[in-house]
Amino acid sequence: MTAAASARQILTRLHEVMASRMHAQGKLDQVVDIIGQNLDSEVCSIYLLRDGMLELFATRGLNQSAVHVTRMAIGEGLTGTIAENIETLNLAEAKAHPDFQYRPETGEEKFHSFAGVPIVYRERAVGVLSVQHVDPRRYEDIEIEALQTTAMVLSEMIANAELVDEEDARGLSEGQTGMQTLQGLALVKGLAIGQAVFHQPRVTINQVMADDVEAERQRVYRAFDRMREQIDNMASQAEFGVGGEHEEVLQTYKMFAYDEGWSRRINEAIDSGLTAEAAIERVQQRTRMRMREIDDPLLADRMHDLEDLSNRLLRIVSGQLGTAASMGLRGDTILIARNLGPAELLEYDRRRLKGVILEEGSLTAHVVIVARAMGVPVLGRARGLRGIVREGDEILLDADHSIATVRPSQQILDGFAERFAKSRQKQAAYAELRDVEPFTRCGTRIQVMMNAGLRDDISALAMTGADGVGLFRTEFQFLVSATLPQRERQTRLYREVMDAAGSKPVVFRTVDIGGDKAVPYLRDEGSEFEENPAMGWRALRMALERDGLLKVQARALLEAASGRALHVMFPMVSEPWEFDAAKAVFDEQLAFMKKRKKIPPDAIHFGAMLEVPALAEVLDDLLPRLDFLSVGTNDLTQFLFAADRANPKLAERYDWLSPAIMRFLARVIYSTAGHEVSLSVCGEMGGRRLEALALLGMGIRKLSITPASVGPIKELVRKVDLEEISDAMKQWLAEPGVDFRARLQSWADERGIETD
Ligand code: PEP
Ligand code: MG
Repeated sequence: MTAAASARQILTRLHEVMASRMHAQGKLDQVVDIIGQNLDSEVCSIYLLRDGMLELFATRGLNQSAVHVTRMAIGEGLTGTIAENIETLNLAEAKAHPDFQYRPETGEEKFHSFAGVPIVYRERAVGVLSVQHVDPRRYEDIEIEALQTTAMVLSEMIANAELVDEEDARGLSEGQTGMQTLQGLALVKGLAIGQAVFHQPRVTINQVMADDVEAERQRVYRAFDRMREQIDNMASQAEFGVGGEHEEVLQTYKMFAYDEGWSRRINEAIDSGLTAEAAIERVQQRTRMRMREIDDPLLADRMHDLEDLSNRLLRIVSGQLGTAASMGLRGDTILIARNLGPAELLEYDRRRLKGVILEEGSLTAHVVIVARAMGVPVLGRARGLRGIVREGDEILLDADHSIATVRPSQQILDGFAERFAKSRQKQAAYAELRDVEPFTRCGTRIQVMMNAGLRDDISALAMTGADGVGLFRTEFQFLVSATLPQRERQTRLYREVMDAAGSKPVVFRTVDIGGDKAVPYLRDEGSEFEENPAMGWRALRMALERDGLLKVQARALLEAASGRALHVMFPMVSEPWEFDAAKAVFDEQLAFMKKRKKIPPDAIHFGAMLEVPALAEVLDDLLPRLDFLSVGTNDLTQFLFAADRANPKLAERYDWLSPAIMRFLARVIYSTAGHEVSLSVCGEMGGRRLEALALLGMGIRKLSITPASVGPIKELVRKVDLEEISDAMKQWLAEPGVDFRARLQSWADERGIETD
């Protein structure tokens, strides 16, 4: 008999049992008989989880008196080990296994060989199915597969008969792997507690046995076709980086998607009488088992790719296509994903989404920019994430320390809760500063503005008491759209933002897209793959050449600001003429607007960002043309140090407080003296206290920072005497090789100024 035929025979018999009107216990008794006979095994037993213990529910071959008597803890004996690790054991000599434990009441001493598989329900082991034999022999692959298939059937039956309750399943999971810590890279700092929710949930299989084998085969064929189509599409879009998928991953996806072996094995499983879903899962189980035996991190990565793909195939075939966002979050959530796009993140309920853990991700990935704007902590590059975390697990995300604790012990939970409460207290204290104006000790009013990019961010103005929005990143709307936002949509957003900000100013930065922030709908001959996207055809460089882009945005901004003041800022200005050219586009649109008798803005203030070091050398030429200048230290420092800001290997190599940056900024600041321009810093560094202290000491009086930093920076400002810090900075700036960080730290410590 072929493997498929014998598997089918077992399934047919199981089918009859399952379809019968017998009660659950009767069915289990029959199942052990069927398996025992078909696998020619003297013993076949089923253990199920009850009150956190694995209890012998049915057996053929062991003493019947042991049924409902023999109980094993998770991790105890071979049965407990299978459940704990959710793994299959296949042993010629059971006694030789280190976890073997002898239970006299069962009468199992005469049996040598042993094979067992976990019965898995919703990714948790809820029982174990095992066979034993007098002869010391390893079971054949097809026998193990028959056991695994039976375990799937049992799990369906167990769920239907409610033989295992959710509580038990959860209890087991805690014992299963216990507390684990994930290390990663802090992409957005912060603390969060919540339950793990997979962005792409695993599919639940509702029916294991097929009613019509041919129909199932057709379903799988169609699903394969669709999956291949999707992968091909992803690959053709990958060059834009929109899917967030890594080139290498896509290659692997492609390789697996077209792998004949994989589709053949699924086909064979269907031959044996399984539904399409069950067949895909069966094959995946087998692969998982094989891979577990190979201890190779590279292969483990590939395994994740195949898991992804297998899950994708399952979703297609079962029609369970939605992400967790489409199903809605039920409580405080830590979202788990390999990677996400910004639009996908925005689909989640902001009140419930507390944190994100990604297997990939980098500091400037769009999703991270969006998460930062949403105030959601993100841990990235968490290796092994999806192997460790299960749906519903409790997770403590500590992105301040680049770790997450999965299934925390009570002690860890208490400690975390304490820190969490402290950080909340601090937040509350900062919130109290909301209406307090940030005057320094010596009485100078510092402007503390915030950065934003989404309509909803504006609510943070009222919450933090920031003086306005010093940087509104208009490209966010472009990044989260599937098509180029039309003028009306842009106008609507800008108008809503200004309405929400009320009397507080909003500085709109014109689009900073292109380069690594490429959007597919703006593709043309210039935006093909660039070796150095950050230094490429981006921001103003692109906007000036892309007919319509800046023009449309200018119209949208001018119309939205009708009858009120408009602040416009141009990114990546590298030479003064670029500023002129951009301003000319606005002038032209303004003239057009006036001709059409539309009400223009009351006043228009034009500014430039200083992000390209070259611009610092020609400030005398540039400054007379400007109303304001804002230093974008994120880009500026990457260009000064020739260090890609997106490269995690360089993330901590150069300090914002390095003498090179300090001296450069001091020179820029001093050279604005005597010009009527308002000067600010809008890069991330202004939101960190020691860095902000240095900036104040060099003469900066206006900062635009991430909303979460507004409170802490206001608090700092109130404790600083500007003359003191500026004297100290002058001295340090003149000293060769000074350690600014250490000096600023002790300066702050001596005055009791908190800095972290
Ligand atoms: C900067 O470069 O410092 C800046 C504020 O702009 P972005 O981070 O959007 O490039
Ligand atoms: Mg920038």
